[in-house]
Amino acid sequence: MSKLHALFGGTFDPIHYGHLRPVEALAQQVGLKKVTLLPNNVPPHRPQPEASAQQRVAMLRCAIGDRPLFDIDTRELERETPSWTVATLEALRAERGAEQPLGFIIGQDSLLTLAKWHRWQDLLSLCHLLVCQRPGYATQMETDEMQQWLDAHRAHTPQQLHHSPAGHIWLADTPLFDISATEIRQRRHSGRSCADLLPDAVIDYIDRAGLYRG
Ligand code: ATP
Repeated sequence: MSKLHALFGGTFDPIHYGHLRPVEALAQQVGLKKVTLLPNNVPPHRPQPEASAQQRVAMLRCAIGDRPLFDIDTRELERETPSWTVATLEALRAERGAEQPLGFIIGQDSLLTLAKWHRWQDLLSLCHLLVCQRPGYATQMETDEMQQWLDAHRAHTPQQLHHSPAGHIWLADTPLFDISATEIRQRRHSGRSCADLLPDAVIDYIDRAGLYRG
């Protein structure tokens, strides 16, 4: 039984099918039993999410109610500091031990900007990167140097992710969903429907909480 455990960070303002469906497909492909959603803390000097941290977590709960693959870890929201993924992974690595295979899930857009992440070179010593496709984004890295880094670490079978604690990049063959939280917020602001972009339970919560109005 594999112990590969994956984490999926995001602002989730709100969570939508572009998050859920590719990750469900990824889980099938590589044999993930659990994916932990990690809602991030947005530091005060950055544009704030429209929903509060509490509301973003409430929406995650609505979304995963009938999806046992997922659970939620709110540790990044409990800190005052920015959510450095590398720091969260260090904490998880300390808790889980050196041998536990850990994956961190990102979309293709995040892979393309990875070189801007805090201490990005340390990420692969802590986890595997599991990358979901996202329509509208390049499939090649912007520089030769980053492309070489990607090629050097790319895993070719899911077993590689289960048999080592960290160090590989898996480019998953996931279905494309042209959905963003930005588009959902914009649709809501202009009174347009968001049906089919996110789970009904999340839409019901958004309605009840009066989020993304006018
Ligand atoms: P916003 O529009 O507010 O910037 P978003 O929809 O991009 O938000 P985030 O919460 O910022 O969502 O994204 C969290 C993670 O999910 C990121 O790694 C991002 O690449 C990935 N992601 C978001 N939307 C998609 C999508 N449609 N397909 C694949 N990956 C996605």
